[in-house]
Amino acid sequence: MKKGTLIILSFLCATVLFAQRQPATDEEKYLDAMHRHITSAKLFGYVCQFSDTTLRGRLAGSEGMAQAVEIVKGYFAQWNLLPAGPDGGYIQEYPHPTVEIEEGSTMEILFPLQTGKSKETVWLHKSYPWADGWFAGNYSGNGDITAEVVYAGFGVSAPELGYDDYQGIDVKGKIVLIEGETPNRSRSADSIALWYKHTLHQTKLANAVAHGAAGMLYYWVPGPNALYQPDFIYCNITESVVEDLFLGTGKTYKETIRKIYETHKPASFHTGKKARIKMVSTYKPQATGKNILGIVKGSDPQLADEYVVISAHLDHLGMIPYHIAGANDNNASTAALLGVAEALSESAVKPKRSVLFLSLDGEEAGLTGSSWYIRHPLIPKEKIKAIVNLEQMGAGEALSAAYAAHSPHLESYLLEANNKYVHRRLYTQSSPYLTRPRTDGAVFAKAGYPVADLRSAGGGYYHHPLDNPDSINPEILQSATQWLYWLAILLADGEGL
Ligand SMILES: [Zn+2]
Repeated sequence: MKKGTLIILSFLCATVLFAQRQPATDEEKYLDAMHRHITSAKLFGYVCQFSDTTLRGRLAGSEGMAQAVEIVKGYFAQWNLLPAGPDGGYIQEYPHPTVEIEEGSTMEILFPLQTGKSKETVWLHKSYPWADGWFAGNYSGNGDITAEVVYAGFGVSAPELGYDDYQGIDVKGKIVLIEGETPNRSRSADSIALWYKHTLHQTKLANAVAHGAAGMLYYWVPGPNALYQPDFIYCNITESVVEDLFLGTGKTYKETIRKIYETHKPASFHTGKKARIKMVSTYKPQATGKNILGIVKGSDPQLADEYVVISAHLDHLGMIPYHIAGANDNNASTAALLGVAEALSESAVKPKRSVLFLSLDGEEAGLTGSSWYIRHPLIPKEKIKAIVNLEQMGAGEALSAAYAAHSPHLESYLLEANNKYVHRRLYTQSSPYLTRPRTDGAVFAKAGYPVADLRSAGGGYYHHPLDNPDSINPEILQSATQWLYWLAILLADGEGL
């Protein structure tokens, strides 16, 4: 045999041997499962599946959300996750009245024009494109109103703090123009606590109703975290509409709001314009929310009744009145949760502790799923060693994590998981979670659980139709999911937790 042939033959044998070699170490077994199940193509497929218009934006309590829940449940069953719901099933159901918005909902602004010798006022109607001017108010009452628009700053009445946007203005039967947050920009814990309740959308809405307003133009991103009042009609608007409402008043929006911040004095006034808000909505008081819980059982007999929880909200905004997919918020995170659930359930080796996969409902509607869970826990709190909550895991180029200030030990796990096989730029920070909770992670942190909130960083859209699959970066989604996978393994095996 020629020397050259021999070399080729031995090379072929080595190749065959290499190809047949089974994963030997635990690490190789985990890697094998990761490469088979956590791929950008598969994860992006989940994002598209949950972003489909047939799920109608997955509003908590809606039919579209019920369908999305069935899909997640189906995957959990397919991968033999152990059901961890209340009656041996996967679902923790809870009351969740909701409002569904339908097409036919519109908003327009009416500008006065004096004409002819008699200076008679005629009203010019200006309509705006959906999403670039307005969104339906998620929890609006059903109705069609036309009324004067009164600017009322933040819509805050805080006598205990010496501040009232409604002082000196009459809004009875009128439409108030207000925005989110409060005039307080201090980040000190004390002042955040003092202003806390006035930052809530529910407080602002109730305050507008208490002052007799018939409706509201809310300069804030849309969302169902609101209060349903059958006779109160409202919608969300964007800055271009706010600027139009200031036209001809001798003021500008930017200067007005700057002065309020600077002086802490309200600057409310009648804009001289009218708005027509028509919302076609149906209240569904009997609707329910649904958390989904499935477990990959731990391998250590002593530690298997301890848990690492991976949570992500499945719900989004529903139809307002058109579809917003919520591809990054939060289908990318659902994809990551599913990717890790499948990889861990198919892995030839399992970590010591159990991993609970918790797909949450109602985050957008005021964090109702996580709030319900902490009031109705299904696993003793002390058995939960870490909660890793996922928010918007699929856009940008980097990764970030905020861990609760009371669980600083999580940081080393976050870093180590990224250093395993991911190696993305990773920003970590301790979060005191002082503001109103904006993530399910914050709800768990406030309840005393050890929590880290994970997300991808550096891109994406928020509560806007552009948050669709086109804005997803499948490569960062794959990295984020692999990061999560190693994090779950490291935490489930971690000592001293
Ligand atoms: Zn979200």
